Amino acid sequence: MATMKSVRTDGVGKIDVVDVERPGPGPKDVLMKVRACGICGTDVTFLHIGGIPARAHLGGDLVPVALGHEPAGEIVEVGRSVWARRSG
Ligand SMILES: [Zn+2]
Repeated sequence: MATMKSVRTDGVGKIDVVDVERPGPGPKDVLMKVRACGICGTDVTFLHIGGIPARAHLGGDLVPVALGHEPAGEIVEVGRSVWARRSG
């Protein structure tokens, strides 16, 4: 199984770098290698409460959540239905 690093929280004020399974792109997806990532107020909220509420409308428990959902990076793999024009 190919892995990649992920930064996540799974406890109040706790941040870990963990190995997770590297996903493959679906037919209309791309796989991006993250080079930089913003951390916003939503991430800070997740860190303060120690995760993300699962099924919050049902009062679910907190589950671990990857931090940083505003990434920038390089596309390293494309799905078979993705058409891209290369520049340069
Ligand atoms: Zn955000």
